[in-house]
Amino acid sequence: MAPTKFNFSAGPALLPKEVLLEAQKGLVDYEGTGMSVMEMSHRSANYDKVHRHCIDMIRKVLDIPTNYHVLLLAGGATYQFSAIPFNLLGDGNAVYVNTGTWSKKASTEAKRLFGERIKVVSTPTFTLPKVEDIEIPENCKYVYVCDNETVHGVEWPSAPVFGDVPLVADMSSNLFSRRLDISKYGMIYGCAQKNFGPAGLTVAIIREDLVGAAHPMCPVLMTYKTHVAKTWPAERNQDSLYNTPPTLCIWITMLVMEWIDRCGGIDGIEKMNRDKAAMLYNYIDSSPFWTTFVEGEIRSQMNVVFKCTKDDVDRAEILDFFQERGMSSLKGHKSLVGSLRASIYNAMPKEGVECLIQAMKDFEAAH
Ligand code: PMP
Repeated sequence: MAPTKFNFSAGPALLPKEVLLEAQKGLVDYEGTGMSVMEMSHRSANYDKVHRHCIDMIRKVLDIPTNYHVLLLAGGATYQFSAIPFNLLGDGNAVYVNTGTWSKKASTEAKRLFGERIKVVSTPTFTLPKVEDIEIPENCKYVYVCDNETVHGVEWPSAPVFGDVPLVADMSSNLFSRRLDISKYGMIYGCAQKNFGPAGLTVAIIREDLVGAAHPMCPVLMTYKTHVAKTWPAERNQDSLYNTPPTLCIWITMLVMEWIDRCGGIDGIEKMNRDKAAMLYNYIDSSPFWTTFVEGEIRSQMNVVFKCTKDDVDRAEILDFFQERGMSSLKGHKSLVGSLRASIYNAMPKEGVECLIQAMKDFEAAH
């Protein structure tokens, strides 16, 4: 099997080569300290600098207003499926908009915990609902969406705003891929295995007035206030962490933030992402041999889900063809029969998408 040159995995996914090389250096001896970041006490001055700088860089990259907290939480996005209703539901209801695998998983967990207080709105697969068609009940504490459905390749083109009701968005597969108007959201969160770091960390950005009304049975580590109380506002002492955070993930995320900054910041990254996605969708639209599952402005800029239009072509043959050219992990999710998926996150260079398009053209010509 040819070694991977371009990794199209949906996650854990590729990181910028530059960041991996930097990380390689610091892994053994971090800035002349004689120890690895992994070996430092999370309460040491050296690690504290890393932690604070990571948060500062996240704020800088996304231009986060001062009335939002940035929390670096251990665990994946699935952990937040439980944490969000525990922290935000209070004595009210919430609306979950099911648009694919990940919003469905989140609503299933919220319903398991809080039953009828969780209202679920579902849409036909590969579509998004109109904001005005969603009914908001009395005492609605938040509306939950998955901003980019990693499996189905559907992405909200802009924040769906529901008046004053806080919007909670799972951005696990598109956080840091484009500019956001943070003020339109109550909470944004994303796990770090796609656009910004190794698995094990979740970044949560949460408006300060939404912290503090957690359910009394909410586990202490799941309670946002626990972390806010220790890291906010400027309590820059070495005792500012409630527990041991995933230090290695945080350090690498910090390096990714610096990389984004060097790429022209979030606008530079967004332009690269839009160019890559347009190139791939334009080619697929122009070819009778390939087709996408999603149409129009809701097409994901991160996860392009497509398939071959010829029923007699075996998907395994296509995948082998791609792999021979050094492109891996293009298999679509098992729930979408015959599908292929190209995840073209921030770190995927333009050359990777060009290489994929060329292989698709060559495969088509050979059939
Ligand atoms: N939400 C989305 C949009 C995802 O893509 C994923 C992971 N693929 C998750 C949630 C779950 O993340 P984790 O496996 O880190 O819990």
